[in-house]
Amino acid sequence: MRRPGPTRGTDVADIVDTANDHAELLLRMSVAQQQRRARLLPRGTCLCCDAPVLPAVMFCDADCREDWEREQAARARNGRPAE
Ligand SMILES: [Zn+2]
Repeated sequence: MRRPGPTRGTDVADIVDTANDHAELLLRMSVAQQQRRARLLPRGTCLCCDAPVLPAVMFCDADCREDWEREQAARARNGRPAE
């Protein structure tokens, strides 16, 4: 329970608010980074044509990898999120 009184309590609340904003920003950045990395994990199918591949492999062949990388570069240029 906060005692009503001089503005000292407000100053502390401001500092806590600033710290919380900062922590939330860092959290959002790290979540975004993890989501970007998660998209690049192998998922058992070719990221380009969805053909089944070995679990640790991301593309069925080099052509698909090149096509996919070109598409990602084009999306990045257009400002759209990668998929
Ligand atoms: Zn493929």
